[in-house]
Amino acid sequence: MRLYNSLSKEIEEFVPFEPPLVRMYVCGPTVYDETHVGHGRTFVVFDSLKRYLVEKGYYVVHIQNITDIDDKIIKRAQEENKNWKTISDEYTSSYLEVLRKLDVYPIIHPRVTEHIRDIISLIELLISKGHAYVSNGNVYFDVSSYPSYGMLSRIPRESWRQEEEYLSEKRSPADFALWKKMKPGEPYWESPWGPGRPGWHIECSAMSSKYLGIKIDIHAGGMDLIFPHHENERAQSECAFGVSPWVKYWLHSGMVTIRGEKMSKSLGNIVLLKELLSKYKPETLRLWYLSAHYRAPIDFNEEIIAQYDRIRERLNDSFDQALKIIDAYRVEYSLDDGQLLLLRNLWESIRGYYLSLDNDFDTPNALKFVHEATSIFWKSVYTKESYAIALSYVLFMEKVNRVFRFRIAEKERVTKLDEELIRVILDIRKKLREQKQYQLADEIRDKLKNLGIVIYDKGLESDFKLSR
Ligand SMILES: [Zn+2]
Repeated sequence: MRLYNSLSKEIEEFVPFEPPLVRMYVCGPTVYDETHVGHGRTFVVFDSLKRYLVEKGYYVVHIQNITDIDDKIIKRAQEENKNWKTISDEYTSSYLEVLRKLDVYPIIHPRVTEHIRDIISLIELLISKGHAYVSNGNVYFDVSSYPSYGMLSRIPRESWRQEEEYLSEKRSPADFALWKKMKPGEPYWESPWGPGRPGWHIECSAMSSKYLGIKIDIHAGGMDLIFPHHENERAQSECAFGVSPWVKYWLHSGMVTIRGEKMSKSLGNIVLLKELLSKYKPETLRLWYLSAHYRAPIDFNEEIIAQYDRIRERLNDSFDQALKIIDAYRVEYSLDDGQLLLLRNLWESIRGYYLSLDNDFDTPNALKFVHEATSIFWKSVYTKESYAIALSYVLFMEKVNRVFRFRIAEKERVTKLDEELIRVILDIRKKLREQKQYQLADEIRDKLKNLGIVIYDKGLESDFKLSR
């Protein structure tokens, strides 16, 4: 497989440091507001890439952090006259709920405030190696100590200026804070340099190395993170751990625009995932996200999302139709020329699908081959139904579903229906108990227990738990 590396600016052969393990770190959100459609793209794109790597036989360790202390969180808390922790907890749960709905499952979701010790140790290491300095209770990274600075973003030296409010105490305008001195009324932690809190970039160097070690195969995030966030992470980690490259493949997802414009608070055009997920199935959103190449921008447009809802339906209907044909089990002892041609064309489409994904994870092109395969399947249904074609199609679409997830909700819907049915039975049982028909009520309880459904009575009300 080949992937575009933002560091070399080239498409490179993907060879992890220690195959079949793939260590993948994705920069997660700063939890000061609801997760929006732009964040969702990064999460879905890299989750899908992970799924494809798993399909190729790799074992992917996926870590995605949560920035739960930051200027923006403190500002929001002050504006709403709330505790910063209330704000970050609220948006953390809301973010996790969105991830779960989108079927994105990192293994660990490290939160900054639970890694302050790790962050302090890393800053101490950088100071001891001469890459960081203390100034007025703040600690800064000395950009001049790392000759490779700027290689990731390739922006001119004049544009390295950052964190301008501290210019007077920094050695260079390009230096950035690793530790920020406490300001009155702000949350703080004790440190060797006095009370304060970590800067933004150091958290990812500290948390990624804690869980993944000092070398990472894939470091991913939105394109807007290249400078300064990823440039700074790279400087910190390569200097602290003495490794180069620290990250083998830097991958960045493109932005989501809203009718051609950048999404921003000031334009008031931010689309929240919570709202989108109340209107569209997660499968539809995943298909739409993957309809553009992950590095290209994608424009948000509800008419197009509605189109992908129909595409999702078509794929599911086709899959169901093929399953029916397989169930009928009319196996073939020979195929006629027409069927054989269709079957060969189907295999060509399947090949095209894999070649597209192997080529820098080209999902729009892969989807084109999925549609081609689907049309070939229907052609066989309308001309001469074929078990061989239906089976080839189903085996292929099962693979496609492992990456594109056009069919995830099936299991959840069944579970929800199960729960509703159990609630109906519990209601009837409650009426029986109200009428003192205890024998019948107990019989229902015992029979459900045999099915693995354990009922708990609290007065006349009951609840249940699955025992397996
Ligand atoms: Zn990060």
